Amino acid sequence: MPELKDAQHKTDICIIGAGPVGLFAVFECGMLKMHCHVVDALDMTGGQCAALYPEKPIYDIPGYPAIDAADLIGKLVFLLIPLIGVLYPMMRFLPTVYDWTMRHKITRLYGELRLLEEDLETPGRKDIAAATAKLDHLESQANRLKMPVAYANQVFNLRHHIDIVRASLKRHADRAAGLQSPPAAPTKSESSVAAMSS
Ligand SMILES: Cc1cc2nc3c(=O)[nH]c(=O)nc-3n(C[C@H](O)[C@H](O)[C@H](O)COP(=O)(O)OP(=O)(O)OC[C@H]3O[C@@H](n4cnc5c(N)ncnc54)[C@H](O)[C@@H]3O)c2cc1C
Repeated sequence: MPELKDAQHKTDICIIGAGPVGLFAVFECGMLKMHCHVVDALDMTGGQCAALYPEKPIYDIPGYPAIDAADLIGKLVFLLIPLIGVLYPMMRFLPTVYDWTMRHKITRLYGELRLLEEDLETPGRKDIAAATAKLDHLESQANRLKMPVAYANQVFNLRHHIDIVRASLKRHADRAAGLQSPPAAPTKSESSVAAMSS
C-alpha cells in the first residue's frame, strides 16, 4: 500500500470528517455533480453519533420524532447510494463516450471529404468552383478542430488527405482550363481518401 504522503488524488472538494455534517456535504456535492473525497481519522463514518452515542435516541432531527444516532448515520449513508448508482456508470462509460465524440469530429469531416472526392471522380459532375469552396470550408473546419494531443495523428492524416484532394482538384481545374492534357495518374499515396480513412 503506498504511503499516504505519496498518495495523490484529484477531486473538486475534500471534506474532512465523515460525521453527520460531512456525510450530508457529500450528498450535496453529488447533487451539484461535484467530485468529493471524504477523509476521517476514525475507521468508521458517523463522527460523534457513531463513535460516542450510537444507541442514544436523538429528538431534535426534523422529520423524526426520535431516531437512534446509529440509525441517523445509516440513513445519511443510504442517501449516498443513488449517487453511487449514477456516478459509477457515468465514470465507467465517460472515457468511451469522450473517445467516440473526439473521433466523430474527425470522421464527420472525412465523410464530407469522401463525398467531395467521389463527386470529383464522377464524370460530368465537376463543379470546380463549388468543390473548391467546399474544400476550403472543410479545411478551415479541420484547422479549427480543438483536439487533445492523443488525436494529433488522426488530425494530421485528415489534413494530409485534404491536401491530396486539393491536388486532385487542381488537376481537374487545369484539365478543365486545357492547361494539362492527359491527366497524371494519382500516386499511390493519393489513390483514395476512402481507403485510408476507413
Ligand atoms: C453525548 C452526545 C450527545 C449528543 N446528542 C445530540 C442530540 O441529541 N442532538 C443533536 O443535535 N446533537 C447532539 N450531539 C451533538 C452532535 O453529535 C454533533 O453536533 C454532531 O456530531 C456534529 O457533527 P459533525 O459532522 O459536525 O462533527 P462530528 O460528529 O464531530 O464528526 C467530525 C468527524 O471528523 C473527524 N475529524 C475531525 N478532525 C479531523 C482531522 N483533522 N482529520 C481527519 N478527521 C477528522 C472526526 O474523527 C469525526 O469523525 C451530541 C453530542 C454528544 C457528544
